[in-house]
Amino acid sequence: MNFCSHCGAVVQLVHLPNDALPRYVCATCAAIHYQNPKMVTGCVVYRQNRVLLCKRAIEPCFGMWNLPAGYLENGETAEKGAMREVWEEAHAEVSIQGLHCIYSIPRINQVYLIFLASLNNLQFSPTSESSEVALFSETEINWNEIAFTSSVFALKHFFSDLREGTARVHIGSFTG
Ligand SMILES: [Zn+2]
Repeated sequence: MNFCSHCGAVVQLVHLPNDALPRYVCATCAAIHYQNPKMVTGCVVYRQNRVLLCKRAIEPCFGMWNLPAGYLENGETAEKGAMREVWEEAHAEVSIQGLHCIYSIPRINQVYLIFLASLNNLQFSPTSESSEVALFSETEINWNEIAFTSSVFALKHFFSDLREGTARVHIGSFTG
């Protein structure tokens, strides 16, 4: 960051007393510009023993498969954001059943909140963001074609919960 979003003056990186990290501080209006991770919300959408995956029609990872997920918007709850992403990427209507996992990627400043959601009906279709949308059982998934470690984490835990007949919140991270 180079300029203050309040007044347009130059900012400086300053280590303030009793603060963990240096912050961008405006030399003119003294505004402190904190930078924090972005929330990504999405769903493991399931129908019986299958999950809904979207083939990405956008970069990054064009052509690979992914859970419907994306950045939470300002003014939106995490659950509403997750349902909106499912609609935008799969044109599917779902009911949130609970939180499935929290997955952090500190290197790129992202925290995923992935919910478990059941399909309300069997209507779903490709969208501008997804070239294909389909239901997969565990053995039907080609794991080499799953786009992100967050999706692999969420899916592996979904299928192990399914085998064990349990549902709980999983906490993970990618620190590579
Ligand atoms: Zn300023």
